[in-house]
Amino acid sequence: MDRKFADLVLDKLQERYGSNLHTQLRHRNNTELFVAVLLSPQCNDNQVNKTTESLFRKYKTFYDYSHADLKTLRSYLNGLNYYKTKAKYLKETAGQILKYYDGKISKSISELTRLQGVGRKVANVILNEAYGINEGIAVDTHVNVTARRLWLIRSKKPEIIEQRLMKIFDKKDWGKVSNLLIELGRDTCKARKKECYRCVLNKICPSSNAK
Ligand code: SF4
Repeated sequence: MDRKFADLVLDKLQERYGSNLHTQLRHRNNTELFVAVLLSPQCNDNQVNKTTESLFRKYKTFYDYSHADLKTLRSYLNGLNYYKTKAKYLKETAGQILKYYDGKISKSISELTRLQGVGRKVANVILNEAYGINEGIAVDTHVNVTARRLWLIRSKKPEIIEQRLMKIFDKKDWGKVSNLLIELGRDTCKARKKECYRCVLNKICPSSNAK
């Protein structure tokens, strides 16, 4: 699959969904963004937003999270999958941010991924949303499914998918690519049932059943 096709996909997705998409995780500042993204793996955005509504009323700063009583913190997160592990990571990570980065969210992907519970997907979303930095491409389930159906990639492994997508899209578009493929996956290219008949890519997609 060549760059020309990738550019065409990007153009069509932008025509349909716009070029200014952002995460649907609700947040009012970078601390809330960081916490919401950290809690997001294995959960949908609605679940996270429901949880953070009360969480953000109780805890405001990384100091608050790092000094939180673990049992209380868990009780705020218990609507999420793996909430016990996430509570532990959240408390520990907040402590690491205070200790090593003066309470600030680093702009470096290698520093971010050194934090407890922060993988490349989480780091990429934070960098792109908080600072507009494109260090990589966040690969979630939607990106995984849509990029394979478009034959942009074959692998199911997020790290390989990310490297491949970084090769075929311009660096300036990396954040946008992730958000647009996520939107495509939410809208028509759903993992369980694709709806090609109403998809903006149905004339060019190799997996389309609506040509
Ligand atoms: S045409 Fe079908 S398979 Fe291709 S991206 Fe659209 S919904 Fe997915």
